[in-house]
Amino acid sequence: MTSRSFLRLALAGAVASGAVMLAALPADASKAPRTVPVRLLALNDFHGNLEPPTGSSGRMVDENGQTVEAGGAVYIAAHMKALADKNTIAVAQGDLIGATPLISAAYHDEPSVEFMGKLGLKVAAVGNHEFDEGYSELRRIMKGGCHPVDGCSPAGEWKGAAFDYVGANVLFKNPHEKSDALAALGGAKPGAIKHMLRDWGVPALPPVSIKWMNGVPIGFIGLVTQTTPNIVTSEGIKDLKFVDEVKAANVASKLLKLVGVKAQVVLVHEGDQVNAGQSPDACSAVPGAGNRIATQVDPEIDIVLSGHSHQAYVCTVKDPAGHDRLFSQGGSFGRVITQVDLKVNARTRDIDRASVVADNHVVTRTVTPDPEISAFVQTWKDRVAPVANKAVGTITTDITNTAAPSGESALGDLIADAQLAATKTGGNAQIALMNPGGVRASLTHASSPAGEGDGVVTYGEAFTVQPFNNLMQVVTLTGAQLKTVLEQQFTGGPNNQAFTKILQPSANFTYTYSAGAPWGSKVSDMKIDGVPVTDTQSIRVAANNFLVGGGDAFLGFQDGTDLWSGPLDIDAFVDYLGQHNPIAPPATDRITAVA
Ligand SMILES: [Zn+2]
Repeated sequence: MTSRSFLRLALAGAVASGAVMLAALPADASKAPRTVPVRLLALNDFHGNLEPPTGSSGRMVDENGQTVEAGGAVYIAAHMKALADKNTIAVAQGDLIGATPLISAAYHDEPSVEFMGKLGLKVAAVGNHEFDEGYSELRRIMKGGCHPVDGCSPAGEWKGAAFDYVGANVLFKNPHEKSDALAALGGAKPGAIKHMLRDWGVPALPPVSIKWMNGVPIGFIGLVTQTTPNIVTSEGIKDLKFVDEVKAANVASKLLKLVGVKAQVVLVHEGDQVNAGQSPDACSAVPGAGNRIATQVDPEIDIVLSGHSHQAYVCTVKDPAGHDRLFSQGGSFGRVITQVDLKVNARTRDIDRASVVADNHVVTRTVTPDPEISAFVQTWKDRVAPVANKAVGTITTDITNTAAPSGESALGDLIADAQLAATKTGGNAQIALMNPGGVRASLTHASSPAGEGDGVVTYGEAFTVQPFNNLMQVVTLTGAQLKTVLEQQFTGGPNNQAFTKILQPSANFTYTYSAGAPWGSKVSDMKIDGVPVTDTQSIRVAANNFLVGGGDAFLGFQDGTDLWSGPLDIDAFVDYLGQHNPIAPPATDRITAVA
């Protein structure tokens, strides 16, 4: 069979299926090409920041090189309304939910997904964090229903996302799994599509979403980082596999072509790092996993909008056919909206690449807040107040994140103890190490909800200390590798550590360091439960997924093997406070600093 007759067959199948029929109809070729304007407005890595994010998470370098305050739902909505025209399709590149502030996290992120619907979002790629609570919870967020354990939120039964979630590289491990992922391509699957997917696998999510604008179809292909299994809890995704983004995009692109959709946009939750301090419109991205995807996916794909690395950039890369292709990202936490203007040739139904213009807009807070969204956010603030005020434990006195001369803090040590307790059983952890920068606030005795100084710790206070929803993980390191990790605490060294960052150890792990000793010889006398550590022994080390991934230049963690992922760090912390009630600040005597 020639490829042409194969295509005709496919189109016949597509016509029979109804939903995709219009896309397959040929346009009148006798007329001169007419171009159709389309505007995409894109967000990525919102992470539930309904309230304006604070600290460095709420600041952004703008086009003039000025650092300005940015983000917040009321400002996103105001900017979106100002930027949207009648040709606009709003899209997103994942991590809209997961790792969210309490206002969203307390309700399984329903408030954030509802907000995205109110913004007019039409299609979003799934990010790794969309899988934080597992695949079945993501399905509930997509389709509606109340949470199986926590029930309905105060807003009533969840109605489901008002937009399409897409993820072409998320497949079922079981090749016989029943899938409704292609429902959007028509109820009865065209034979050619069925045939194509037989060799590919069973999609666990819709791979594509087709949106019509001014009479032309635009196909959106969703992709999520193939590293997702390393950064989410394994139990929730045990039935899924996350396959190579480029291969999946190319299958999805062919799928779109089969049904006559040639204007193709990839929404990918994977991206690159940038040189710090650059304009959001600069192309300062350092080629990495995002660039690989942006340059290697099928030449039929016109635009690659990215996410995951929380950076802002606007780049033009070459596709495999040598044509220019947009590759961009819009920061994180709702601080940037990426505007992409393009023209579709109404005859060929393809995007005119020369017409593509992209601009990253900083979501400044100098505009008038959107009144409807202001009321919406206030409603959820009021609802979450009782959750935030729920008592989870008691402290005997202040437990602070202030570092002792050794670099330990009482609260850092306590969190390490909590993390070890939470990972001993499932992950066989022997010690725990906590990054000091992740201890975001102190627990103060006087700051109970009523201010009466009774030492009550509320869930909101605990969440302020541990707000990242990091996953607890455990890896095996040799004694020598553990020593390398500890050497990496100090400024300088092969990883170019910018600051000395002393990891907070669990109570059963002690050692001595000499900051003045040469790099590589600073750490000595490591002991676990009082027993000296040998270079060759295997040690199960618990840490959050940020550290295990090599965060804060602790690249030594990346040599760890037998990775296990467990509970969220906040859950480990809250459980520990509940089980050790009341709790006193631990002595900061685990590390001995010598001259
Ligand atoms: Zn991500």
